[in-house]
Amino acid sequence: MGHLFSLFTNHTIKIRLQLWISGIILVLAFSIIIPFYFIEKGNRIEEAGVQLKQVIDVQGLYIESWNQEKLDTIKRFALSDNAKFHRIGDLKREFQDYAKVKSEFYSITYVEPDGYIRTNSTQTYVGDREYYARGKEKKSFVSGVVMSKENDTPMITYSSPVLGDHGEFKGIVLGVVTLEMLNTLMSRLSFGDTGEVYVLDGYGNMVTASKRMENYLHPQGVTPEIYQLALVNRKADRAYIGFRGESVYGQYRWSQEKNWLVVGEITKKEIFQKLNELSVTIIVISLIALLLSVAAAVLIASKIERPIRYLLRATKVIQKGNYDYQINADKIKHAPVELRQLVVTFNLMSDRLKSYISLLEHSAWMDQLTEVHNRRYMMLEGNKQLQSCIYSGQTCSVLMMDIDHFKKINDTYGHLVGDGVLHHVASVLKRYAGEDAIVARYGGEEFILLLLRKDAQESAAVAEEVREVLKEEPYRKESLTVKITASIGVAEYSPTLEYGTMVLEDMVSRADHALYRAKASGRNRVVVDNKRLYEEDDHV
Ligand code: GH3
Ligand code: MG
Ligand code: MG
Repeated sequence: MGHLFSLFTNHTIKIRLQLWISGIILVLAFSIIIPFYFIEKGNRIEEAGVQLKQVIDVQGLYIESWNQEKLDTIKRFALSDNAKFHRIGDLKREFQDYAKVKSEFYSITYVEPDGYIRTNSTQTYVGDREYYARGKEKKSFVSGVVMSKENDTPMITYSSPVLGDHGEFKGIVLGVVTLEMLNTLMSRLSFGDTGEVYVLDGYGNMVTASKRMENYLHPQGVTPEIYQLALVNRKADRAYIGFRGESVYGQYRWSQEKNWLVVGEITKKEIFQKLNELSVTIIVISLIALLLSVAAAVLIASKIERPIRYLLRATKVIQKGNYDYQINADKIKHAPVELRQLVVTFNLMSDRLKSYISLLEHSAWMDQLTEVHNRRYMMLEGNKQLQSCIYSGQTCSVLMMDIDHFKKINDTYGHLVGDGVLHHVASVLKRYAGEDAIVARYGGEEFILLLLRKDAQESAAVAEEVREVLKEEPYRKESLTVKITASIGVAEYSPTLEYGTMVLEDMVSRADHALYRAKASGRNRVVVDNKRLYEEDDHV
């Protein structure tokens, strides 16, 4: 669970942008495609239904009128004088004449009242046919598909009774149309790529289909699903398997006497082909949009990410103590305005930080009153310089100085004058200490000097000069003159430590002792720590 959660949180700007944009595009695409698909699907089915209805209405009428025309022809023969007066020879000649001019009949024959068709050489019994029974009832009839007794081919019959003067049954005029002939007619009745019209007889036998007739070999016995629906007058509102084995939508129409069923079918594939193509197009466009958007996200992210990376790096640099770090603004010229402002602000901040830090450092190392270094600075920086001085094989010395009877100055002139005296003394020390020296206020009216690369003798000379100058240059302010003397203790570096564990500490202690002796022996003088002298004596 935590893992899943981190999938959505622990991401860079770039990945987040990509995820969001992809998500939005996918949701958008689906919210367009899905409703579009279902609405369009409904529309297409409805459209196909309307089209099928029109087609079968027109073609049903066409087939019916064609049928009617055939039946009318047969009726005309049945009502002719030759038929009525039983002039069979003349009647047959009439048939032949008709056949010569134009005929869509395979044959027109005369069925005798006893149910036989007789030619010169043959006789065929048809008394068992339905048309014979209907004829005897004095009715015309169009049959479904029946097999010819003559040559065993499927055919359709048109029959009309011949009646005598008093309405007595005198035989039947029978027209035969082979399915082949109907097929020629039907071949013209197709629509779309797969749409076709076919005709079933009242028993569900295939009479003819509008096309691809050559492909279907067993017209008899095939009862398409739609025939079952037609029997109970139900609408085919769903796709079903058509007689060619494909999924189709279809509609039907019964002929007037309900003995023929005209069916129009179109494959589901054709109805939805365009829709599917369109859907694929939309999906492809969505995918392209997705790719472009992700690319755009990467581009935007990199524009945002780069300055943020710089900022991140800069904050880390500052965190490490490099307070004056600045981001090069030229590198993010093309970043969004806010980020450029952020970088400018960052640079200003680091500027400020730098000046504050140096101010802080300065005040941490300096004595405010006397404007020389403080004791802390001496113990750190002085120690460092002392070490490197010793490391390079040179010696160093420490001067400890204390103003004589300073308490008296305070008592006599007040603390403000005392402060002025301290500042004056410090400035004298700075002036005479030389280049290689650190001057610091040790505390109160005590000062400490570290003289680098000077031995006890050279340092004592410096101390002597300072003492002399202080004595000769009293503190003056307006009309006030305050005479000053000071005592100074000097100690040189020694590798063997007498006090503490650090070299500087040891030198300070020894200089302090020397200072004590200077005070004790009457003040206003310089005393050198004699350890070195003893050591030199030892060597002698
Ligand atoms: P000695 O010759 O023995 O050194 O006598 P001294 O009076 O100089 O020594 P002491 O230690 O008795 O007195 C030091 C005085 O320095 C005491 C204190 O009031 C004064 N003092 C310490 N710091 C300051 C300061 O910052 N300003 C002023 N005005 N006086 C200070
Ligand atoms: Mg003192
Ligand atoms: Mg003093």
